[in-house]
Amino acid sequence: MKPNIKDFDLSELKELLLSSGEQRYRAEQVLRAIYIYRISSFDEIKIIPKHLRDYLTEKFKITVFRNISYQHSSDGTIKFLFHLSDGEAIESVLIPSEFVNNKKSGSRKTLCVSTQVGCTFNCAFCATGKLKFKRNLNTSEIIEQYLQAEKFIGEKITNIVFMGMGEPLLNYDNVKKAVIILLYPMFKLINSKKITISTSGFIPGIIKLADEHLPVKLALSLHATTQGLRDKLLPNCKSWKLKELFDSMEYYYRKTSTPVTYEYILFDGINDTQDDIKRLSRISKRIPSKINLIPFHTIDFTNPTGFSETLKPASGNKIHWFLRELKNKGINAFLRTSSGLDIDAACGQLALKSGLS
Ligand code: SAH
Ligand code: SF4
Repeated sequence: MKPNIKDFDLSELKELLLSSGEQRYRAEQVLRAIYIYRISSFDEIKIIPKHLRDYLTEKFKITVFRNISYQHSSDGTIKFLFHLSDGEAIESVLIPSEFVNNKKSGSRKTLCVSTQVGCTFNCAFCATGKLKFKRNLNTSEIIEQYLQAEKFIGEKITNIVFMGMGEPLLNYDNVKKAVIILLYPMFKLINSKKITISTSGFIPGIIKLADEHLPVKLALSLHATTQGLRDKLLPNCKSWKLKELFDSMEYYYRKTSTPVTYEYILFDGINDTQDDIKRLSRISKRIPSKINLIPFHTIDFTNPTGFSETLKPASGNKIHWFLRELKNKGINAFLRTSSGLDIDAACGQLALKSGLS
């Protein structure tokens, strides 16, 4: 099968063209045509000679998805379903302006991007985790979610969060290359520090991210302040102990000077006590950080392993109390409101089950 041109970054394409007897600068012309002019066939790149257009057409694919469908939420969120060339499918979610603390924050357009087909991490609360893991997405499949979402809305996407299906740090190389392309200054696709990678806590990936200084923000899906509870909620992350996890977050901060985010889903009667607040406040004071509280978006699954009952969302009152208590302790805490709930497009609900048109 032919490789996709969007799987290559600038230096790789330069090498490739050079080895085929072409000039290196042609690579920049080709990628400019793709990412700035958004061409859909090599024949449209009139700035390069015909023989090179023919060569590219023969050697590379440029189309990534077989088919795309979408669904609109009443709050403006759009969910995309992308069919991949091998018959698999993934979802992305466009949130027109992110709602933080119930206030619309400017004209932000955030795309929540998938990185894997399914997920190996089977977290107790997540619909994606219930899908069988199939494979990592290629760089082209990651970037194309962004290109297609922008094409669909006809406006610029300002922020990208790797919070769709899958664990981004388990697909490190392809995610890294997608980030590098999205941040190329000459294409002006996404501004630096407007990309967030969310991880369930894959420590070797956090360390690598820190060592390589990828200019992104890092969010850790924490959800528990004790080892016992975290092992139940994220059973496949058991081998990464909280102490080592916090050490790796500190290492990340020391290396990058970038404050981190802790994501914390509030489950009724499970992780919403005064003791959790005390421990969270200790955790968040260790390095510059913020805490994003996320309401639990219920999904249909039977009792998760390790819990006597189905997990339930904390009540609105409880969430606001929790938020207030954290703020009273001087913690930089926010409430992430749930967008796209009516179309199963909120965090953790992506499971390819709804009928998109
Ligand atoms: N695998 C990565 C990124 C994808 S999940 C990670 O786990 O961080 C994106 C976010 O959605 C994570 O913070 C995850 O914990 C959260 N999430 C998963 N299921 C959820 C649910 N049912 N309700 C609310 N948030 C959920
Ligand atoms: Fe995978 Fe993240 Fe869902 Fe856990 S929460 S199953 S790591 S996508």
